[in-house]
Amino acid sequence: MRIVLEAALRRAGHKECGGVLMGEHVGPNHFVVRRLTVHRPGAVAFFVRHLGGVVGAIKRYCQAHGNDYQRFNYLGEWHSHPLFSVQPSTQDHASMRALVTDRSVGANFVVLMVVRLNSTELEGSVHTYLPDGSVHPSFLDLEG
Ligand SMILES: [Zn+2]
Repeated sequence: MRIVLEAALRRAGHKECGGVLMGEHVGPNHFVVRRLTVHRPGAVAFFVRHLGGVVGAIKRYCQAHGNDYQRFNYLGEWHSHPLFSVQPSTQDHASMRALVTDRSVGANFVVLMVVRLNSTELEGSVHTYLPDGSVHPSFLDLEG
């Protein structure tokens, strides 16, 4: 997973890239990522506004794992900040709050991971957004 992520970041260079995180909620503000998707650079903002487009892929993924929504759930999304801090921007906070309070999405929580390659080191931040509007610093294990 870490290798997939690093390869995507390297390919994107100075452009932002991102995608969807799927996996397991293992404890308070602690998640294990079992799968992540990579969208082409520049598609991140588009993606945030069109989450519905990937719901089919998420459903297929869950069906392939016996509809075990506890272990294989939509966790949220990730994107890169190649040129600045890995802390979520004001716009990031606003987008994720909008996502988690959107009734048509119906999420109990949404996770945002922001990453970048600092020379060869992968660095990042993880936050969990709840429908009550609160934000919590979180932990993410990248499986595999
Ligand atoms: Zn961002």
